[in-house]
Amino acid sequence: MSKVCSIISLWTTNNLFSFYFLSNLQHIFLLFLLKSERGLFFISKKGAARASGCAVERNEKNRETAKLHFFHAGSLNAKVILYLYILIHGHIDYQLLLFEKPKGRIIMFPQTRMRRLRYGKLKNMVRENTLTVNDLIYAFFVDETTSEKVEVSSMPGVSRWPLSKAVDAAREAYDLGIPAVLIFGIPKTKNAEGTSSYGDDDVVQAAVRAIKAEFGNDLIVITDLCMCEYTDHGHCGIVNFETHDVVNDLTLPILGKIAVSHAKAGADIIAPSGMMDGMIEAIRSALDENGFENTPIMSYSSKYASVFYGPFRDAADSGFCFGDRSEYQMDPANSDEAIRETELDVLEGADMLMVKPGLPYLDIVYRIKQEFGMPLAVYQVSGEYAMIKAAAEKGWLDEEKCFYEAMLSMKRAGADMIITYYAKEMAKILTEKSKKN
Ligand SMILES: [Zn+2]
Repeated sequence: MSKVCSIISLWTTNNLFSFYFLSNLQHIFLLFLLKSERGLFFISKKGAARASGCAVERNEKNRETAKLHFFHAGSLNAKVILYLYILIHGHIDYQLLLFEKPKGRIIMFPQTRMRRLRYGKLKNMVRENTLTVNDLIYAFFVDETTSEKVEVSSMPGVSRWPLSKAVDAAREAYDLGIPAVLIFGIPKTKNAEGTSSYGDDDVVQAAVRAIKAEFGNDLIVITDLCMCEYTDHGHCGIVNFETHDVVNDLTLPILGKIAVSHAKAGADIIAPSGMMDGMIEAIRSALDENGFENTPIMSYSSKYASVFYGPFRDAADSGFCFGDRSEYQMDPANSDEAIRETELDVLEGADMLMVKPGLPYLDIVYRIKQEFGMPLAVYQVSGEYAMIKAAAEKGWLDEEKCFYEAMLSMKRAGADMIITYYAKEMAKILTEKSKKN
């Protein structure tokens, strides 16, 4: 540090800033050392005079608090840039770092030609993200009211499976190498309290038991946990009919009860989707108290009140008798709220997180992954599925390529797992692709 030569130090009304001549190593050292400080500027002796980028420092609310500017600049150019900068901005609340041109890193056209790496097998070698069958979770509906498979009209290719064929549904996924399934149940009876959701022989419990008996640990069984498929009013909890309110705290013990019944049946992962406050804690406690402390919870941690769920309601038979779910699901306009909502779920004991829907919410996927660095599932919902299918039916889009690109985009945004009704088809596409490569 003794070699660092301070050229000038001065106070402005807002900041202290100092100019230094630095060697490469000193630059790197100071870059780390001064990351949290403000208003310090470093000028190098050598280098070309052009800006090369900036790093943004953000606070916990993801608001920009400071920018770290990187310039390649000779000492004279650097000073000119700096003075211009001060002139324009009046005062400085940025860190400005001027340093030598990094070797072989940023060189402009014609030395650098990005297209060089976009040909043939080379393109595969430099690919940053991949989609594999291990990323897929096959979502399907088990219907206690039917003895035959029933096509869902708004979701071509998707059926409700009778309870007697739940194992067949799982086998189709298993045979294609898909590691996990997510089960939704459609019960024969519904009432205001959703009591058909937690019996040992109710639809999901019976389906899980049959599937686990067949596949054991070779297939992960995840159960969706919510009341809306089991209540005659279609809401995700206990309803006060006078106020038309879904009563959060009365709902929590029931969610705990459903979770325990799923775990007892053999579910590997419990996935609560009702967006009740405190639900993860209630479920975690109920599971722990009943000896299921090793059963993970995949929380629908950022579930938006989305119009893209439309076709699912046909499939799950879960329309509602009044209102909608916008009082407990999240406002599509919000992004910071997803961070708060997710943070609470993490603190309450969620093991895995989820963003639902997928494609219209990739910004949320990215933020949640960056912020929490936890296993993250993305739910490609029924509306996303139906849109691609409908456009493909009309010949407007290539179905397979469209699903592939949509799912790859979810991976790029930060997803570790993708829940999709298209899992089986995608597994086949991926197998074909890997044969070709
Ligand atoms: Zn629900």
